[in-house]
Amino acid sequence: MTEHDDRCPCGTGETYDECCGRYLADGRRAPTAEALMRSRYTGFATGASHYLLVTWHPSTRPDLLELDDEMAWYRLDVVRKDAGGPWDDAGTVEFVAHYRLDDGRRGRLHETSHFVREDGRWLYVDGGIGS
Ligand SMILES: [Zn+2]
Repeated sequence: MTEHDDRCPCGTGETYDECCGRYLADGRRAPTAEALMRSRYTGFATGASHYLLVTWHPSTRPDLLELDDEMAWYRLDVVRKDAGGPWDDAGTVEFVAHYRLDDGRRGRLHETSHFVREDGRWLYVDGGIGS
């Protein structure tokens, strides 16, 4: 589990409480697509499957989300973002997320994610591999 004073898994350098914990634990709304994307990465890193589902657009949301606990997410790099600001209705964020498997092998996920803002709330719609 993430301790409140620990650095946030998403890599901003802020503490968890000052960063993604505001959205994951306190239920505040992420103001930008990037903030939501970072908090969803942190959700994957900390096993917060409920948070991942509630921030998923209903049109693409799976009924059930089983996180693979063999995958330990340890680093996130945001490569590029397009729109997704507080006054936008849509946005994309391209990122590379790095993981380690139980047996020590490492891998990375390179994805461009699409987000929409509905009723003031950013939601993840879908993502494509690569850019
Ligand atoms: Zn964070």
